[in-house]
Amino acid sequence: MRKPIVAGNWKMNKSLAEGRALAAGIVEAVASYKGCDIVVAPTAVSLAGVGEVLGDSNVRLAAQNMHWAEGGAYTGELSAAMIKDVGCSWVILGHSERRQYFGETDEGVNHKALVALKAGLTPIVCVGETLEERESERTLQKIELQVRAALASISAADASRVVIAYEPIWAIGTGKTASSDQAQAIHLEIRKIVAEVFDASVADAMRVLYGGSVKPANIAELIAQPDVDGALIGGASLKVESFSEIAKIV
Ligand code: PGA
Repeated sequence: MRKPIVAGNWKMNKSLAEGRALAAGIVEAVASYKGCDIVVAPTAVSLAGVGEVLGDSNVRLAAQNMHWAEGGAYTGELSAAMIKDVGCSWVILGHSERRQYFGETDEGVNHKALVALKAGLTPIVCVGETLEERESERTLQKIELQVRAALASISAADASRVVIAYEPIWAIGTGKTASSDQAQAIHLEIRKIVAEVFDASVADAMRVLYGGSVKPANIAELIAQPDVDGALIGGASLKVESFSEIAKIV
């Protein structure tokens, strides 16, 4: 059985005080939820402060990104050890916004995933197609490329700790959700690719999240799909009510 995950990606939102208040509200609201892993990813400058609020609650701390280098002359970057040091046990890697606006490549994302795993972090690796790719029927091709690249050189033992988030770019922040059938179809393909790269047991164990305009109103249908193991949530993770409602349903 794969334990579902509800992960909130706060993106470039919330001051430190706002983030701490949001975290406190979430901790209180989800205290009794045992059925899923609950994760929040504040901005880098709020990691330590939000981590303090999370304490030993059932809500885990994630960074929105990290660098693959151990340290040194990488202005503006954070290492795996640094995010762990402030309390992160998870990290989001290769979000489409990072790929689109900050030039992240498949190779870079793979490098980061390897380093994250070695550091004992749980990486959430994001993949997804653009609207143009979907309309020209290149979705599977794109997903296969991204998934295979992300998993390159990862051992089978480590692979089951990797989480993949399928986030169709046309559904992120647009209010357009992939239908539950569309999501299920791609999640199943991702699992098939993982089975090809490793084997069926790794594919069965790997958790695959859906992301893109997830909200309380559409999560039930998404999570009912056999290959959807939870959600990576942007907009709806910024309010205690919507985020905790999603976690309750999952
Ligand atoms: P959204 O963002 O829920 O606001 O669409 C999802 C994401 O980018 O992770």
